[in-house]
Order: sequence, then C-alpha cells, then structure tokens
Amino acid sequence: MKQYDQLYINGKWRASDGTQWVEGTNPATLEPIGKMVCATPEEIDEAVSAAHKAFPEWNARPLEERAAFLAAIADGIERHQEELAKLIVEELGAPITFARGVQVGGSIREIRATLEELPRFFFKEELENVTVLKEGFGVVACITPWNYPLNQIQRKITPAFLAGNTVVVKPASLTPRTALALAQIIHETKLPEGVFNLILGSGAETGKALAAHPKVRLISFTGSTKAGQSLYAQAALGIKKLILELGGKSALILLPEGEETQAVSRCMETILNNSGQSCSALTRLLVPREKRQAVEALLLDYVQRVGLMGDPLDPATKLGPVVSKDQYERVLNYIEKGKGEGARVLTGGTPRQGAGYFIPTTIFSDVTPQMTIAQEEIFGPVLCVMAYDTVEEAIEWANDTPYGLSGAVVGPEEEAYKVALRLRTGNVYLNAGKANPKAPFGGYHQSGLGREMGLYGLEDYLEIKAILK
Ligand code: NAP
Repeated sequence: MKQYDQLYINGKWRASDGTQWVEGTNPATLEPIGKMVCATPEEIDEAVSAAHKAFPEWNARPLEERAAFLAAIADGIERHQEELAKLIVEELGAPITFARGVQVGGSIREIRATLEELPRFFFKEELENVTVLKEGFGVVACITPWNYPLNQIQRKITPAFLAGNTVVVKPASLTPRTALALAQIIHETKLPEGVFNLILGSGAETGKALAAHPKVRLISFTGSTKAGQSLYAQAALGIKKLILELGGKSALILLPEGEETQAVSRCMETILNNSGQSCSALTRLLVPREKRQAVEALLLDYVQRVGLMGDPLDPATKLGPVVSKDQYERVLNYIEKGKGEGARVLTGGTPRQGAGYFIPTTIFSDVTPQMTIAQEEIFGPVLCVMAYDTVEEAIEWANDTPYGLSGAVVGPEEEAYKVALRLRTGNVYLNAGKANPKAPFGGYHQSGLGREMGLYGLEDYLEIKAILK
C-alpha cells in the first residue's frame, strides 16, 4: 500500500518518524488509496517552532511581496489543476466536473479576488496623534475538513499570509493527498522557510496538540460544531484568538409569488453538488402549503433530468458517493430517523446496491420543524420539504435551528429582500443571486465565529496596534 509519510516543515520535505497510520479508501470503488502517517509530538513542535521563527521576518515584509507569493500559489494551482481535481475525485468522491470547476477553480478565483481587493484595505491609519497599525498574530494553526480539501486550506492561508502570519496546516485525515499536492505547489513558489508548514495526523491527537501548542496564537478551524466546541474550550486556556467555520442547516424560503422552478434548482444544486456535503447546502425547502404538490413534481423531475449518480470520473456524473463509511452510515441513519418520525419519502431513501458509498438523492416531504432531520445537519444528498401556512411561520422555521450559516429567498425582489433582513444567517441568496468570492462567508449562532473570504476574511487574522505620539 502506498505510504504518505512526508511532512513539510521549515521549507523542506522530511519523512515522519510516526508509527501510527490512517488508511485511505476511494469512496467510489472502495479500493485502498494508501496510508497516511500521524506526526509525532516532536514533529508538531518542530513545525510550530519553524513557523514561530519565520514570523518576525515575514510579518515585516512589504505587503506586495506577501501578495506576490499568493499570486504565484494561484498560478501553481492553475498549472496543476487537473492533477488536483483527480486527487479530489479519488479521496473525496466529488464528480470530476465539480472538482475541476468548483473545488479547484473556486480556489484560484478566491485567491485572485482577494488580491484584487487588497488596494482597498488599509494596514496603517493616522488618527490625530495616533498611528494605528494592523499586523499578524504570529503562528496560526489551520485545521481543515475533507469536504473542500483544497479550498478550505486556501481560505485560511490566503488571509493568514496577507496579514503577516505564518501557518501550520493539519488537513482532514480523509484527504491528505490534496493537501500534500498543495504543499508541493507552495514549495515551488520558494516561499520563505517556515512560513507554511504541513503536518498530518488525526484531529483527536495531532489537531488537538497543534491547537494547544503555546506558540500558536490563533486557531482557524473549519469543521463540525462538536469539534469546534472542544477547540473553543481549549483556546480559552491560552486566551487564543479563534476563528470557527462550523455546520449549517440552511433554508430556502419560496414566497407565495415566487418562481417554483428557481427555488427547486437553487436547492437541488446544493443537494447534488459534493453529495450534499457542503456546510452551506440549502437542505430545507420551505414552500407555501398550496404549492407543495407542484414543487414536489418539479423536484422529482429535476432529480430525473439532472441528478445522474455514478462514477465520479465520468464528466456527466452529478452525484458521486459520500466520502466514507462513517459518513455513509450517518446519512443512512438520518434517513431512517426521518422515516421513523413520520416524514414522507418522495424519492430515494435506500442505499444503492454494489460497491461504493452511494446514496441516491433523497427527498422527504411533510417534514415538520421539530423532526430531527429538520434540526440536525445531515451532510448528505438529503432535502427536507416543509409546507408553511404564512410567511411569518416560514421565517420562524428558517431561524429555528441551532445554526445560521446560509439561506435563500425566492420571490418578488422587494419582498424577498425584506425577508432576507429577518434571516439570522451569514449569507442569504435572493432569487438567482450568484456567489461572489469578495463577499464575506461565515455563520451566526453555532455556525461559527468570524468570517472568511475577501477583505472581510483578512480582518480576523490581524492584531491592532496603536502608536501614540
Ligand atoms: P470534523 O470532524 O470536525 O473535522 C474537521 C477537522 O478537524 C479535521 O481535520 C479533523 O481531523 C479535525 N479535528 C476533529 N476533532 C478535532 C479536535 N478535537 N481537535 C482538533 N482538531 C480536530 O469535521 P469534518 O467531518 O471533517 O467536516 C464536516 C463538518 O465541517 C460539517 O459539520 C460541515 O458543516 C463543516 N464545514 C463548515 C464549513 C464552514 O465554512 N462553515 C465549511 C466546510 C465544512 P480528522 O480528519 O483527523 O478527524
């Protein structure tokens, strides 16, 4: 079995002395894809110490130089985009078209959009007798999930580097290969030693030890709310700054005058893409009761026409497998809970026979707000349709989960905007509104703390100093 035993520390690749391994499996074929080493405590310390040593010089560099390295990283990702997309297919199971366009393409677009915005940001301001400076925190621990294995790292290193920080990245155990490929791309830019370091290992041990290291000043975490809570408690001990990008249970509200087809395609895109394993997926579709039947018919038609499930390497595939056995069992368990609590299965609801962690698109109707499937993040290709009687009720339901990440409203522009103002979420899409890499991304409530992307993402990575003359 192929061994992934290399760590990237202080500008060099080196073999780990670790003796613990995590085995990887291709979720579409169930073939083994190699085993990943877990870094030793000494190696974690070495990586953090290298980042700590590199910080003063990197933080003092002119912004233009730091930005130039990021431009080179974006170029490198672009040059290696096909290789990265194939790695993402292999370890995550994302369909190749999605991996190319969104997983890899999105990373390139986001870095370039942030660089384009930089001239609007001020790292130094004069205020009467005060010079206000913004500068890096020091060493950032970047702990990332598997669902966007390239872009979740990009969303952390882009603002961290621009702000003058140095980083130690610990990627998800399910997707180390994409992270290793990115580290090689970064290595080729000749970024100064110690600015970027990559260690491998499990969250429970390596992630925890990295975050607890006394020289780490900022923890930037994307993942489950449960792991976020544990890191929050841990960060308190060292009074460390924390950025948390956590789970979601986002709703789309179709207003009585809204266009049903738009609501259906907007929701279903997010349910099929990445097998619904996106934190911002619109997993609850709130429809006026009188439109429920018409919407159900449109949903079935959409799944038939668009939702081709199969080999993720086939460019026509829209729905691949979910990432792992754990995730497969977790999603199937939620589907059984939905049935048990009285929701009606419109389509799907049983796993595909044969190899691979494939779960057909599953749509539940007659879902009520108290059901488990209406409250908890499922993270699979599962949609809940909920019929409401008044718009007030829809707004109340949309806000009635522990989360607050994303949302959407489909209806006449002015009315939809008024509803958007009342949603307690970090993002709200109106009608055909498109994603924008310059817009802030992050959640209210248990969806997290802080924002990523664009200049808004930069703010959280900066300390503020006032020099009074
Ligand atoms: P996860 O289990 O919380 O893991 C995320 C990362 O944290 C992994 O690298 C994991 O390592 C590590 N980790 C786990 N427990 C840890 C601990 N106690 N201390 C330190 N590190 C720890 O989440 P996931 O299953 O990979 O990702 C899915 C979740 O991420 C979903 O809830 C999704 O909504 C959320 N997400 C949120 C956003 C956002 O921007 N809001 C974006 C994407 C995903 P191992 O891999 O070794 O377990």
